[in-house]
Amino acid sequence: MKKFIFASTLALGISTVAVAQEKDWSFGDGVTHERWSLENTDYALCDAGLNQSPIDLGTPNARADVELATMFGSASGTMALGEEKVQVDFTDAQGKGMNSGGMMFNLLQVHFHTPSEHAINGERFPLVAHFVHATDDGRLGVLGVMFEEGESNAGLANILEAHAGGNGTAVTFDIDSMVPEDLDVYRYMGSLTTPPCSEGVNWHVADTPVEASAQQIATLRGALGPSARSLQPQGTRLVVAPSE
Ligand SMILES: [Zn+2]
Repeated sequence: MKKFIFASTLALGISTVAVAQEKDWSFGDGVTHERWSLENTDYALCDAGLNQSPIDLGTPNARADVELATMFGSASGTMALGEEKVQVDFTDAQGKGMNSGGMMFNLLQVHFHTPSEHAINGERFPLVAHFVHATDDGRLGVLGVMFEEGESNAGLANILEAHAGGNGTAVTFDIDSMVPEDLDVYRYMGSLTTPPCSEGVNWHVADTPVEASAQQIATLRGALGPSARSLQPQGTRLVVAPSE
């Protein structure tokens, strides 16, 4: 019996170390500055960068309707789960993505944060989906869609069913069900919101939320915990809001 307890404690210890080596940072309360550069010097940009994300989108310095076309529809992928991570890596995203101002961004993955990372006039929504894209020459573009509590969302229902199946579970869902029908976006240049906080990310955030049920939001909040980075200074950046 004693031997058994020792063995299981050892196994637990090893798996904890493995997780810690994989991910050496974590989200804070979403308000206090995280100081990730103190965790790892590779994350210096997180604290020193002048073009970081997320930001409050409520003080735009330009208004224009960004030329944005999405090519989504039904897509398949596999669940990629981890600490503070619920993600779908697309496996059939060929030809899917978004065209922003003539630049074609190819769809790679979608992941979630609770609450939303970007704010609009100080308000954060309970959930956000980040659709991550890249151009053929490696420039990153993200489309953020916030969720408010309301009707159950069909795409989220498929994803949560697969989430219950665990890491690597296959999933097919209609991406269009997770994007506002009239898509108008805030547009600015920012960064990844997780280490190494790389800049040069073309951010697009829908100005209107879509609906998810209270249960769907609660399930993702339970899986992710607080997973929004603190708001970063806008600085001298151009932030374009949809024209009124
Ligand atoms: Zn994200």
